[in-house]
Amino acid sequence: MQALVLEKTRLLRLRDIVIDEPLGSHDVRIRIHSVGICGSDVHYYQHGAIGPFVVRAPLVLGHEAAGIVMETGAAVTTLRPGDRVCMEPGIPDPNSRPTRLGLYNLDPAVRFWATPPVHGCLRPTVVHPEAFTFKLPDNVSFGEGAMVEPLAVGLHAANKARLKPGDVAVVLGAGPIGTLTALAALAGGCSRVFITDVQPAKLALAATLGPITPIDVRGQNPAAVVRAATGGWGADVAFEASGVPSAAAQAIDALCPGGCAVFIGMPGAPVPFDIVAAQVKEARIETIFRYAHVFPRALALMGSGKINVRPLVTDRFAFADAVAAFDYACRMRPASVKVQIELT
Ligand code: ZN
Repeated sequence: MQALVLEKTRLLRLRDIVIDEPLGSHDVRIRIHSVGICGSDVHYYQHGAIGPFVVRAPLVLGHEAAGIVMETGAAVTTLRPGDRVCMEPGIPDPNSRPTRLGLYNLDPAVRFWATPPVHGCLRPTVVHPEAFTFKLPDNVSFGEGAMVEPLAVGLHAANKARLKPGDVAVVLGAGPIGTLTALAALAGGCSRVFITDVQPAKLALAATLGPITPIDVRGQNPAAVVRAATGGWGADVAFEASGVPSAAAQAIDALCPGGCAVFIGMPGAPVPFDIVAAQVKEARIETIFRYAHVFPRALALMGSGKINVRPLVTDRFAFADAVAAFDYACRMRPASVKVQIELT
């Protein structure tokens, strides 16, 4: 099959590749329709590695996908050919200790699309377990279905924050994950969300998505803005979604006494952290790694209209132009949020 293959750092090709994928009894075969380009895909393209994960052999990229079921294994009961679906890209070992504890995203043996050596989904078909394949509501498009994966990160962060109705949140970073986290926070009960960035176009787009107040950190201090708007109190929750080292301190600074900071972004190197600044507020610190158990909730929120991700899919490319799509994603215009590739 023709796939988008990362041959080595900075060399992507659309070429034939043989991937032997027998259909197990609990699997479905899916024709891929839409795939979003994630920051991690771009990072592998530009640098050939993320932390301990190094691209040592040609790798098919892509892990944010939606498509149509073509064929089902003998034991599959919930899906049929023709069903429109999206897929959770990480398949854990069902018998591992983290999985049995419900923490399947932390299973060290998880096989996650486009994380070496596991091929991703930028190819015409994939075989995937029924249990990690989710039917799209009729009013959710393939493009929206391919946004469920990044939205799942935001929902998992909102779960970790244990949001209460009426909470005020601040999200640091208005990229795809930050913006989707803001939508997840509103859907989770926040009355108001502040969002920071250095790109006015991204902030302007975020501000159109709900009661979201943009903060341009080039000229404004997030903590000062949030305190001014909350009678000096601060935010109940701070979501750090930028990965920028200085944002960790900003997250704590913006919190109210007893508030919660959730760390989503991954800085490229260890970050110094002022423990006392967190202690004097008795701040609760949470972290997330990908997500678990949230795809059905993401789809329910999209289907009910509580979360609308359509404005965030800003750019679409045909599969034939997949290499150009990646080059575009490497130097995106400021107003772009999510680039998707369509295979049909
Ligand atoms: Zn992603």
